Amino acid sequence: MKKTLVALLIVVLALATVALERTFTFRSRQPQAAPVAVEPLDTAALAQRLAGALRFKTISYQDSSQFDAREFDGFQRYLRTTFPRLHAALKLERVNGYGLLYEWMGSEANLAPIVLLAHQDVVPVEPGTESRWTEPPFEGRITGGYVWGRGALDDKGSLVGTLEAVEHLVTAGAKPRRTVYLAFGYDEEVGGRRGAARIADLLASRNVQPEFVLDEGGALTTGLVAGISAPVALVGIAEKGYVTVALTAQAEGGHSSMPPDETAVGLLAAGITRLEHHQMPRAIRGPTAAMFDYLGPEMSFGPRLVLANRWLLGGILARRFGATPQGNAMVRTTTAPTVLQAGIKENVLPSSARALVNFRILPGDSVTGVVEHVRHAVHDARISVEPLPGTMTNASAVTSVDAEPFQLLARTIRQVVPEAVVSPWLVVGGTDSRHYARLTPNVLRFVGAAMGKEDLRRVHGTDERVGVRAYAVVVRVYLQLLKNAAL
Ligand SMILES: [Zn+2]
Repeated sequence: MKKTLVALLIVVLALATVALERTFTFRSRQPQAAPVAVEPLDTAALAQRLAGALRFKTISYQDSSQFDAREFDGFQRYLRTTFPRLHAALKLERVNGYGLLYEWMGSEANLAPIVLLAHQDVVPVEPGTESRWTEPPFEGRITGGYVWGRGALDDKGSLVGTLEAVEHLVTAGAKPRRTVYLAFGYDEEVGGRRGAARIADLLASRNVQPEFVLDEGGALTTGLVAGISAPVALVGIAEKGYVTVALTAQAEGGHSSMPPDETAVGLLAAGITRLEHHQMPRAIRGPTAAMFDYLGPEMSFGPRLVLANRWLLGGILARRFGATPQGNAMVRTTTAPTVLQAGIKENVLPSSARALVNFRILPGDSVTGVVEHVRHAVHDARISVEPLPGTMTNASAVTSVDAEPFQLLARTIRQVVPEAVVSPWLVVGGTDSRHYARLTPNVLRFVGAAMGKEDLRRVHGTDERVGVRAYAVVVRVYLQLLKNAAL
């Protein structure tokens, strides 16, 4: 008995020693960045020019016949008149209608180019919610220190901000050593196949192999990461995959006065319940593991100890972190039943019932793996399980945080916002950048816009806006990035 106790004590002490050692050697990964002179920018004028861009209803509708070419024509005319020097100095190609590809030719042909992405289109305003906006969504108003309107964050702030940075540099007489492409799709919100995918095709056909591409997908967040009060620059190094699975239950139909033991609706409901109870397993790996490696050392002792010792506490961490919908989405492939279809009349038993379940796939899982998991979890031969055609995308590759492009962006962010903590992260939605993945292993997703907790719902929601000063930071990040990477 005594021997067992002593042995146990030794094991506990050994574990504690290792855990403490790992905690104390869990060093900050924040890059050292030499401070830079602040470029004089007229923030009010920047805000005015962004506001002007928000007045065009460049909306992507699910039904592509609603595409309004006049709005896109007007928007592109606006860009030409607003950024005249850039348009004189850069080559512009139109790709597949409204895609825009600018080329700012570098002087050193042996340097791989960089590609800055953004999209011209925005999501519609949900009918019936227009009156809830503090300022109308398409009038580009500036009040209370904010630029209001659909696209302020997603993604015209990024598009116009990129143009501002280049216009500024062209005006100052700068000439890049490395070629810079600006590539602006026009249907990102409905998949990007007509815009970004075609621009990527064109670059691929010319054998362009970028040093990196930079798209939206991460932001300068405040209050989103518990335990860190400084702004946290979340740089997307991967994005989740996507598949929607159709479940169809078959049973005998007929008159509802004499129902059989088992009905199509009942079978389907039970199948969905089993599926919700058997979620894909949680895992801390890839981009989420990298995020903990970057955030952990910046935290106080308690959380730092947990994050430094995932070999011991990973299970608890995944459970705790996965307790919120946002955290859950970072540590597993999520399961979301979205559509139910059955029945035509209240006194007729339907012979089939169908449900659609949307999965967002964690890097490391796959479309095939998800479909297999669903079959296994539903476990009923009377329910067919089929992925919906056109909805299958595996998770992206994971960009290395040790490669120069991520490090360069991290340094750039800290030059512009010295107090920021930079961290890699996993983008849970999709971006146009996935169309460029075959051109380069270095796909980065970040816009320097400040985002608080309550700003998340503004993206695609009501009262989308960006702070006038926050927008100037967006421009400064692009400016500094161009200086660091291309000049
Ligand atoms: Zn977007």
